[in-house]
Amino acid sequence: MSRRRMLFVAFVVSLTAVAVLVPPAQPQSNRPSHVVIIVLDQARPDTIDRYDMENVQELQRQGASFPNALVGHMAAETVISHNVITSGLLPKDMGWSDEVYRDSANVLGAPGAYYVTSSMSCVEFGKLIDAGGYPKLQDYLDSGFGETSAFASIAQKRTSACTSGQTGSAVDDGTATPDPEDIIFQIRGSNVSALCGDGWRRPEYIGVPRTYFEFTDDCTDRWWTFQGAGAYETDGITPANIYPLDGNRFVPGFDPDHIGGDTWSADAAIRFIENEPDWRGLMVSLGGIDKLGHMWGPEDEGEPGAAPGSEEEMRHLPFIAKNADEQVGRIVDALRESALLDDTLIVITADHAAMTGRPFHGVLAPGVDNPTCAPPSTGIRSDCNWYFGSDADEIYRDPSPAVAELRDALGGNLDFSYQDGHIAVWLHDNSQAKKGEAAAAVLDMPGVIASYHTNAAQDDYLRFGTNPMRGSERSWFVRHGDELVDTMAEPSGPDVVGLLADNVTYGVIGDHGGHNKLIQNIPMVFYGPGIGSKDPNRAMRLVDVLPTILTTMGVDYDPDDLDGEASKLPKP
Ligand SMILES: [Zn+2]
Ligand SMILES: [Zn+2]
Repeated sequence: MSRRRMLFVAFVVSLTAVAVLVPPAQPQSNRPSHVVIIVLDQARPDTIDRYDMENVQELQRQGASFPNALVGHMAAETVISHNVITSGLLPKDMGWSDEVYRDSANVLGAPGAYYVTSSMSCVEFGKLIDAGGYPKLQDYLDSGFGETSAFASIAQKRTSACTSGQTGSAVDDGTATPDPEDIIFQIRGSNVSALCGDGWRRPEYIGVPRTYFEFTDDCTDRWWTFQGAGAYETDGITPANIYPLDGNRFVPGFDPDHIGGDTWSADAAIRFIENEPDWRGLMVSLGGIDKLGHMWGPEDEGEPGAAPGSEEEMRHLPFIAKNADEQVGRIVDALRESALLDDTLIVITADHAAMTGRPFHGVLAPGVDNPTCAPPSTGIRSDCNWYFGSDADEIYRDPSPAVAELRDALGGNLDFSYQDGHIAVWLHDNSQAKKGEAAAAVLDMPGVIASYHTNAAQDDYLRFGTNPMRGSERSWFVRHGDELVDTMAEPSGPDVVGLLADNVTYGVIGDHGGHNKLIQNIPMVFYGPGIGSKDPNRAMRLVDVLPTILTTMGVDYDPDDLDGEASKLPKP
């Protein structure tokens, strides 16, 4: 039994004891009894002002907004950050620590096998969390407010919805969701063309289906969406065509009965707020900004002269960011109309920010039908920029020239690599000598400013070397580089890591994952009863969000169980 496992068992036992001995905490007038976390996937602080996100700005004005907030961990990615937020643990302690996972502890069934975490199933995330044996936000809400407390995790991606929504006891009894009160709902779902025609997808719903969603098995309900590859001509425009729109998954589209994108997620969240009898927690992750930021870069200005209501307008970041902001406003309105706004803690943050690839070291080309690149997803070029290697069901063996050079330099010892705003390398022979060789090869890659490899115990990264850096880059690196890399030191993580100069990307034009200030500095707003509007200076991190929520809500936890620390929020 691992230490975390023991902690979780102890936690459950103490919950049981608490449930017997004392009634659940009663909400006090100055303390929130509900929490809503809204993740603006890939939003930077300047995204909010650049795109005039008025509803978010209003919450920033009325609540506590942390201008120096940081992601606070490598790798700054969706699949990592959503579980950091809901567990209060750093990646090295949560069971997977990057976009690629090496099953060193044999949790998923094939010892040492590789998995791309971004294509893991909900059940696989549940197994990894279960093996870590740690409680999640929803477990703490159960302990604070009673076992019938409901929690929902709603998003357009499995990497957001399942990582946030799964809890530690996920698969012990063979079911995907531990608590019948909790649900996971995500738009991607599965392609069921036989029912509705090609491209129609049934969303993935995990938990006991609520009748109030009016969720059906055919395509008649509101939740089914059309998700076709290369939509709205984005497969024909560079640079968007290396990661084109996939129908109405990240944009609302024009079908009034099946609106997608962030509007879909907000609709589901509002349905939950208005109908769930004993809800306490809600994670809603809005993925639109991330998708458009990847396609065009995080400073996208849109197409000049795009008419309101046109495809040309919808396929760009200015419209999508504004739409995300409208959804934030709708969720706040739903809380107000349900008379819950004065009892709810609203947290608005991002799972990471992003930088624009100038220079870009991936291949800038449309997706190709290439058998060495990412079947069965028909060869989206971004996938083969991001990944090199193979797992049980995916092949990524068409690397960009920069990664091909690394592969050749390592002479067959490269098992897997992942590169976005950082470089991560998994070796076949990962002896210290081979790690040193690979760290030297990574340091030679274009745009790399520092490289690291793990120690023999794989619980720490040793800095191998650095290249010349610009002044501001150097001071940020000195303050944060080593500490951030260490947050992913564990055996499933990369043997060798390369940090990139500012505005160097390898996967797509707008990319994240790295240590850079542009990627790490994120919006962070806490709004709710008992919280003032003075902006704290503290460099609050995503790992600090959970203890700050629990402290604010008056839910007990043992600080030794968490890697994060509660941030002091200003009084009104
Ligand atoms: Zn993300
Ligand atoms: Zn992303």
